[in-house]
Amino acid sequence: MRVSARGAAVKLQQEEHMENYTKISAADEPRVELHDKLGLTVAEISINSLPAGASVPFVHAHRQNEEIYAVIEGSGKAVIDGDTVQLKAGDWVRIAPAANRQFFASAESGIKYICIQVKAGSLEGYTTTDAVM
Ligand code: ZN
Repeated sequence: MRVSARGAAVKLQQEEHMENYTKISAADEPRVELHDKLGLTVAEISINSLPAGASVPFVHAHRQNEEIYAVIEGSGKAVIDGDTVQLKAGDWVRIAPAANRQFFASAESGIKYICIQVKAGSLEGYTTTDAVM
């Protein structure tokens, strides 16, 4: 449901937008970006799948954003500033903005991972210092 400025509700397929939350079902695609779909204001979150033997076709760094990667299926590696970091489901990696990075699926299996991109140093409170009970 989407609540407009006037409060009228409009139902959207597979999406629920209420004043204080948005829910979607992510498509099973090679890359899904959630920033626009969820109306995120401080993060970009993407869901990425590489088939066996494939890689992201470029090396990149960031100006301000650190990235947190969570491997949820399969295995592969990241090359970060020339270091090879082996990855498997359950692994998490935090990468500083300036680091050059590239992700690869292993030859035997694909890899599926979530990337959370946030401005480095922007978190002011969390858990007990931000929660209100
Ligand atoms: Zn990035």
